[in-house]
Amino acid sequence: MWRYDDTRAALRDALRLSRAMTYKSAVAGLPLGGGKGVIVLPPEPMAPRRRRDVLLDFAETVQALRGSYVTAEDVGTSARDMQVIAQGTTHVSGLSRRRGGSGDPSPFTALGVQAAIAASCERAFGSASLKGRSICVSGLGHVGLPLAKGLLRAGATVLASDIDRSKRDVIRSAGGRWVAPGKALAQAVDVLAPCALGGVITDESLAELQAPVVAGAANNQLAADEVAELLADRGILWAPDFVANAGGIINIAVELEPAGYDPARARTRVGGIGDTIREVFDEASTSRTTPLDAAMRLAKRRLDEAGSG
Ligand code: NAD
Repeated sequence: MWRYDDTRAALRDALRLSRAMTYKSAVAGLPLGGGKGVIVLPPEPMAPRRRRDVLLDFAETVQALRGSYVTAEDVGTSARDMQVIAQGTTHVSGLSRRRGGSGDPSPFTALGVQAAIAASCERAFGSASLKGRSICVSGLGHVGLPLAKGLLRAGATVLASDIDRSKRDVIRSAGGRWVAPGKALAQAVDVLAPCALGGVITDESLAELQAPVVAGAANNQLAADEVAELLADRGILWAPDFVANAGGIINIAVELEPAGYDPARARTRVGGIGDTIREVFDEASTSRTTPLDAAMRLAKRRLDEAGSG
């Protein structure tokens, strides 16, 4: 749920996000396809009643798809919103634990991103330990904040930014350092973790980057696929976003298993993201290609296997 300049921009976003979901599920080895719903917010603030109506309209659309699309939380929505959506459709996941769901997937996404950061550090610096690593987290939302706290617990120095200035005190009291949002990309840190919106790494913004590793939660971090080659040319190791940020969907997939939801099982599965990232980097260096290309090949192989199975 986000504001867009026009509906065409929203449609483009929905298509890119659903493509990323398809690759994400395939690389994570989940028996799911890919889909994404986008709700376009009006320019003016929405009253709670109107928000509820919008969520119920969305629920009607999801219900009409009869289970070929299952919705869950993402940018701009919460477990509470899923509860409203559940009044109009049964095809909703990520409901609160109290309501029998797996809850907000974001902490699991954060856990997976941290595993991806550790695996990327191992490749770039020879050690997966985050102790003493400097990491800039851009975007302190549902994923960025728990990620920043997890990194601090692991002994990293965390710099963080958000366009919402109220996050400044939050990160400072957790032990991190605040950076103005316009300066996040250019921080001279070991790792840049984009955790806000997509499209942040462009031909132009690439020139600003100083971190030798980029690994974060944001979907579609690269403005275009070609940027992956420019990153590699600059010697920057990029952990493909749809591999690094699969923790939430892995958690939701556990909810859909016949044995039912178990957070411990979900945590173990999410920890496997580190190994998937290693596999992607191995494939990229063996095939002399970019991590994006390697991850897309892995996804396509899995999709072909599923198609012929
Ligand atoms: P969120 O809406 O909770 O948080 C996003 C944060 O980014 C907000 O605090 C916002 O103020 C901030 N922000 C927006 N523009 C910014 C900018 N230019 N600079 C700095 N901060 C900025 O969203 P989230 O659920 O934390 O998701 C973050 C990203 O991770 C999104 O791209 C989302 O698609 C992706 N993602 C989320 C999940 C999940 O489980 N929530 C799973 C996979 C991927």
